[in-house]
Amino acid sequence: MAKTSLFENLLEKLRQTAKIAGISPEVVKILSQPKRVIEFALIFRKDDGSLLVLPAYRVQHNDALGPFKGGVRFHSQVNLDEVKALAFWMTLKGAVVDIPMGGGKGGVAVDPNQLSPAEQERLSRAYVRGIWQFIGPEVDIPAPDVNTNSQVMAWMVDEYEKLVGYKAPAAFTGKPLELGGSAGREEATGQGGVWILEALAKKTGLEPQKTKVLVQGFGNVGFWFAKLAAEAGFKVVGVADSKGGIILNKNSKSKAQNSKIKIWGLEIEKVAEWKAKTGSVIGFPGTKTVSGEEFLSTEADILVPAALENVIDEKVAKKIKARIIVEMANGPVTPEGDKILKKRKIISVPDFLANSGGVIVSWLEWVQNKTGYYWEKEEVLGKLKEKIIPAFEKVWQEAKRRKTDLRTTAWVVALEKLAKFV
Ligand code: NAD
Repeated sequence: MAKTSLFENLLEKLRQTAKIAGISPEVVKILSQPKRVIEFALIFRKDDGSLLVLPAYRVQHNDALGPFKGGVRFHSQVNLDEVKALAFWMTLKGAVVDIPMGGGKGGVAVDPNQLSPAEQERLSRAYVRGIWQFIGPEVDIPAPDVNTNSQVMAWMVDEYEKLVGYKAPAAFTGKPLELGGSAGREEATGQGGVWILEALAKKTGLEPQKTKVLVQGFGNVGFWFAKLAAEAGFKVVGVADSKGGIILNKNSKSKAQNSKIKIWGLEIEKVAEWKAKTGSVIGFPGTKTVSGEEFLSTEADILVPAALENVIDEKVAKKIKARIIVEMANGPVTPEGDKILKKRKIISVPDFLANSGGVIVSWLEWVQNKTGYYWEKEEVLGKLKEKIIPAFEKVWQEAKRRKTDLRTTAWVVALEKLAKFV
């Protein structure tokens, strides 16, 4: 975990890039503070009758481009500084991919894995009772994030509708399909990242089947990224979760030959089955287990952090062997780590561009809910591609023109957009 403040780090980057982009000090001032911070005590009873009182947050950073939008995280480490930073990243995300959505985020400091399903439901509903007056389809639209999923969104939207007294599916995104969720939302974040990876491979002359990929994190984002990258022909040689990482043994039998699609590395769905059965990816046949730190410095071409923030600090950045990083988690690289990556000429696609597929399809879900007209998965994913690829191309070309890195350029592109609206 970082010793410095995540939000302060973003403010530092804001000041630096505002200078490069010629953004007015007034715009910088506005973006330096969230528009609203809701901090409350979330109270509910456990199954044994005892009372839990937990710190809970919703931060609404900026809504110049559209309603606040962003996930809700349930994690024991959640704190106000982190939620403020995550909300700021959402503002940048909407701006860089050019969608009419602002930036927000929420969280509760809790480990939901220690709660029963009934307790998780009471937790989700209590969260909505704490923020419902400040959210809504035209105001702020929460979605899933770490340890929250479509089931949690189903509880939340149900509680919200009870409180307001009418149907309001557009108040939350990432819902189950039968409750107004969008086709394609589950895989959206991973799919967007894999399309960026494919575009990047073309630009850098990497052949997918010779390109080794490591994915850290095996939840929604990591699983889908690994699965879709393997199906796109990349060689996914390792994945990791909170318990550790697995690396495919050389000449392993699990270097599978999927009948329809040629899979060169790990069979991701089999790894997922293993994780569902055993609770972790570790121990998967045909692989060796490594620690989290060893995993990040394993030999590969592409490293994909898709778990939590601050995993690539100065120390880790010095040891990474990959030449390209696709940041699928939010904030996986610390500012000190970033300096080392730049010095070592490692290309890093910044988080708020690489993982924007989720918010793009969340925006499409909101559009479908508001119009009551629903699209097939192919149509949704087609619209996702139409948004994310031009956004990546724009940042890539602009970085070449400015002779600078992708992160700085993505900030410049986002700030130029925001400056016209705030
Ligand atoms: P998730 O809860 O589904 O999965 C998180 C995964 O990370 C789990 O597999 C967990 O075991 C693993 N993990 C936790 N700590 C780890 C560690 N120290 N080392 C290795 N693995 C670890 O969460 P998610 O929705 O997949 O989100 C992952 C990241 O992507 C977060 O940073 C989130 O903010 C970001 N993100 C998510 C979405 C989305 O659509 N879900 C969209 C954009 C960005």
